[in-house]
Amino acid sequence: MTDSEKTKEQLILELVELRESLTRLEALRDEHKKVEEALRESEERFRFMAETTGEALYRLKYSSMKYDYMSPSIEKLTGYSPREIESAGLSSLIISIEDIGKKKLSPEAIQKIRQEGKTGEYRADYLIRAKAGDMVWLGDHSFPWIDKSGSLVGSVGILSDITERKQMEAKLQEMNLELQRIATLDGLTKVANRRRFDEFLELEWKRAMREGSPISLILIDIDHFKLFNDTYGHQAGDDCLKAVAQAIRGCVKRPMDLVARYGGEEFTVVLPNTDEKGAFLIAQLAGREVRNLGIPHAKASKIGCVSISCGVSTIYPSRGSTSEELVSRADEALYAAKDRGRNQAVFNAWSNFEIKSPE
Ligand code: GH3
Ligand code: MG
Ligand code: MG
Repeated sequence: MTDSEKTKEQLILELVELRESLTRLEALRDEHKKVEEALRESEERFRFMAETTGEALYRLKYSSMKYDYMSPSIEKLTGYSPREIESAGLSSLIISIEDIGKKKLSPEAIQKIRQEGKTGEYRADYLIRAKAGDMVWLGDHSFPWIDKSGSLVGSVGILSDITERKQMEAKLQEMNLELQRIATLDGLTKVANRRRFDEFLELEWKRAMREGSPISLILIDIDHFKLFNDTYGHQAGDDCLKAVAQAIRGCVKRPMDLVARYGGEEFTVVLPNTDEKGAFLIAQLAGREVRNLGIPHAKASKIGCVSISCGVSTIYPSRGSTSEELVSRADEALYAAKDRGRNQAVFNAWSNFEIKSPE
């Protein structure tokens, strides 16, 4: 039927239908526009976030082992554009990797364990050489990229500059080491303190027992030191303690030997793997070196200067023997040295070694 044959009512009905279709189409077009606008806004928001935050986002495809997305911020982090990173590969910039709580893993290895379903997120710190030649630490935090069908396609991750944090951590570690060092030193004389001595002796005692080797100990006491303080003052006494400590330290050469302040004006030397002869020689040498300091001590000694007395002991540790025995034998020897007129070394004979007469 042509339009001319249609009744007026039919034409009006068709016109109404047409109008309705047009309205629907317009509504659809508006909807489409809205969706487009929302999409554009969301894309812009994503781009804004990806490009303006300090972090770089990436998506790594395992089939090609290439980044199919790397946000432009990578240039801020490394000096390289996403394109340059793409062609060289991020791994070519990496100097070292510190995996958090895991062994060093390559991207291929991460892929493998992810495929085995063993890993979700992964964190690692990369030390990289930036384009300008400087070293930068990048923190990588990545997650598996799984497609709609549930298969693993690659990983998505975020790279951030953690250089400052790493530098702080390194400084903290350094400070901790320094603190540990200070905690084991005697504040005044800068030789090991009593705590360090106790720990060290115990360790070396056990080692000597394991290895069947001898261990020697020298207890050293400054002669008439109370009188020294009374005569020259406490400050001079402190200076004397420092000088004596350094003189004793100069007598031990092996890295395993330990000089410590035992307390007050007493020092001790632990000599692992050293027999009676060697230990006694060191005690005599210490006596000589302290005398050679020539610190005046007019009132107390015949020689007119500061001297020390030394008690020496050596034990080949066996089951049942203790390190306290080594100390108490040295103490007895020191007592004997004082008793025999000071300024000398005495050995507490517990073996066949003969007690030496005073120097
Ligand atoms: P002896 O020859 O028998 O060892 O006599 P002594 O006077 O050295 O022994 P005594 O134990 O009677 O005195 C030790 C002195 O060491 C007393 C104390 O004031 C002094 N002294 C201990 N620690 C320090 C210190 O850190 N600084 C100073 N200046 N003196 C100290
Ligand atoms: Mg004393
Ligand atoms: Mg003394």
